Amino acid sequence: MSHNSDITVRYLNQSRELYGNKIFLDSQTVNVPVPNTKTLESFNKSIRECLKCELGNTRTNFVFGVGNPHAKIVFVGEAPGEKEDLKGEPFVGRAGQLLDKILAAIDLTREDIYICNVIKCRPPQNRDPLPSEVELCEPYLKTQLALINPTLIVALGRIAACTILKTKEPLKDLRNKIFKYEGIDLLVTYHPAALLRNPNFKKPTWEDFQMIRDQYLAD
Ligand code: SF4
Repeated sequence: MSHNSDITVRYLNQSRELYGNKIFLDSQTVNVPVPNTKTLESFNKSIRECLKCELGNTRTNFVFGVGNPHAKIVFVGEAPGEKEDLKGEPFVGRAGQLLDKILAAIDLTREDIYICNVIKCRPPQNRDPLPSEVELCEPYLKTQLALINPTLIVALGRIAACTILKTKEPLKDLRNKIFKYEGIDLLVTYHPAALLRNPNFKKPTWEDFQMIRDQYLAD
């Protein structure tokens, strides 16, 4: 079987698994409700062969998300980078290690929180996700959030925040505000990779995490 027919068969099998024996044209797959699913694990299994957009053909690994399925706080980044794509896990590498340190400073570990991205497959050369890719992939994030039912979502970085909030405002104007996404409180802070590039972002990020601790983790 040729590579292209192999991809087509995978796509059709997946569409059938997700939506039944009805084939949707591309424009009609947008906003199709995601399938009923009971757990994060079963949801992960049902979408991990996804080929709804081109990123499915260039990824090494699908990056679903990791952490506590009953977390109070869900951290959401933009999309997997090179290391995440290779490992199949979000926020690995130096930025991930820095995130772990920041979490530890407010007495949290990765086992306490859940972490994922808006887009589940790596955009080539880490380019920004296309609006069409966001439209196709974002329903998966919404289902993850519905299954976890957190108290707070923290958007990490400008692209994640702007993608979720459908805005073009600079990150500094999005901080210190409580937004709503899927009925859940949402805060915006810097991506840990930005802190590695510019240490001036450490102070405002620490202020954001102190606010998270004081407003969302106090008993
Ligand atoms: S990025 Fe999202 S919509 Fe595109 S193939 Fe990956 S999982 Fe599917």
